[in-house]
Amino acid sequence: MRALVTGGAGFLGSHLCERLLSEGAEVICLDNFYSGNRANIRHLMSHPNFEVIRHDVVEPILLEVDRIFHLACPASPVHYQYNPVKTIKTSVMGTINMLGLAKRVKARILLTSTSEVYGNPQQHPQKESYWGNVNPIGVRSCYDEGKRVAECLMMDYHRQNKVDVRIARVFNTYGPRMAVNDGRVVSNFCVAALRGEELVIYGDGSQTRSFAYVDDIIDGLVRLMAVSDFVGPVNLGCPDEFTMQDLARMVLEITGSRAKVTFGEARSDDPERRKPDVSLARERLGWEPRTALRDGLVRTVEHFRTVLSLTRT
Ligand code: NAD
Ligand code: UDP
Repeated sequence: MRALVTGGAGFLGSHLCERLLSEGAEVICLDNFYSGNRANIRHLMSHPNFEVIRHDVVEPILLEVDRIFHLACPASPVHYQYNPVKTIKTSVMGTINMLGLAKRVKARILLTSTSEVYGNPQQHPQKESYWGNVNPIGVRSCYDEGKRVAECLMMDYHRQNKVDVRIARVFNTYGPRMAVNDGRVVSNFCVAALRGEELVIYGDGSQTRSFAYVDDIIDGLVRLMAVSDFVGPVNLGCPDEFTMQDLARMVLEITGSRAKVTFGEARSDDPERRKPDVSLARERLGWEPRTALRDGLVRTVEHFRTVLSLTRT
């Protein structure tokens, strides 16, 4: 089995490459290193079944593969809002290129879509049947609408060209190998707490998210790719829901930090609450998240402790 992982040098992609290699697959990691990092895959470089290609998915490419895990796209609001036009090009043109490749070489292709397709949800928890509440012209639209178009493309290639597709809607995921400058809340809070700097909550901190540990999500992606008769979309996330105030408290407790918590300006179009209904994943994939937030945070804090101590010396 030869697998292509686009965005393979990123946070989720690098864990996925590692998992696929451990299962005996040949893995081609394709990345333009926009938000990914060589350090994430350095330990895999000497593996005989691992190959890296620097390439931008906005440009077509021809490769002989059996499976395409299409992850390439910046996922942190800080990164995807830095160059929004590029972000939407990556989602739209990148997905067209990967679907064209899948069609040509008859590969099965999986898209990592996102809970952001639900926008600021008016249904809670969110089921896959919910169509969402997305602002089409806001600062998050380049990402949210980009992924909505990507899902549409997946379904149209499936219906029109019989491409074998899989769509995962991934909810907020955290864990070791998140970049120090990733900008998402878990990494920001862990890094600030360890440095003794302020943890800045955007808005009043009553907004909620459901955080899934990286290993659980990778397991869900691998299962979705393996099932023979299920296209999705399917939610992959952890149904435990926390406010940002809860998260800040937990990070301070785990790190033993005495850093202050302060409140900054609320982000534009920031979803007020989010929590997946994962019954479909349970039923069709036999999948369930296993890692409690506290346990996953302990491992994540350890990761940042190591990275920060290395960068200090
Ligand atoms: P990440 O930013 O760490 O990884 C994205 C990777 O894609 C990076 O290595 C980046 O360099 C690469 N990339 C970006 N644009 C590219 C392009 N044009 N061509 C080639 N490579 C490109 O983010 P992540 O958290 O690992 O997210 C991976 C995927 O999962 C994304 O598709 C994201 O939308 C999706 N997702 C992630 C989360 C999460 O919480 N981590 C939640 C929902 C969905
Ligand atoms: N957030 C925060 N402080 C930070 C980073 C994020 O309070 O330093 C908040 C943000 O406003 C949002 C939540 O944490 O309500 C999750 O943000 P993140 O960027 O991690 O993911 P997303 O908004 O894409 O779910």
